[in-house]
Amino acid sequence: MSADCIFCSIVDGDIPARTVHETDDVLAFLDANPLAPGHTLVIPKAHAQHVGDLDDDLASDLFAAVTELTPRVQAAVDAEGANVGINDGEAAGQEVPHVHVHVIPRFEGDGGAPLHAVGG
Ligand code: IMP
Repeated sequence: MSADCIFCSIVDGDIPARTVHETDDVLAFLDANPLAPGHTLVIPKAHAQHVGDLDDDLASDLFAAVTELTPRVQAAVDAEGANVGINDGEAAGQEVPHVHVHVIPRFEGDGGAPLHAVGG
């Protein structure tokens, strides 16, 4: 838990969120400003700012949740694909300093950019 961390406040129940998945160590909830229907954030409950701050067990638990959730999220909104990614550090666009994996459903012809277009 870190003071002034909005995602820690969600974990603690002090800020409401639309939870879609929860384990002892991981929480997934809908993004408040979705880039697509079903845009989900998957976070470790313990505060960590950067992916490099995660220990192996927590990184494994986080990715296990992502692999389980991604097809479920896609199916829930009838998406054909998903962008799954992390903005790690301010220079990469990280606005909330608590590790979170974006699962962004994608639809054929939706006009969004693929991750490899970043900086291109
Ligand atoms: P970042 O740019 O990778 O740090 O993404 C932060 C994400 O958190 C953005 O997509 C925001 O819309 C989302 N977000 C910020 N505050 C909240 C909240 O209180 N609930 C759910 N999502 C949030």
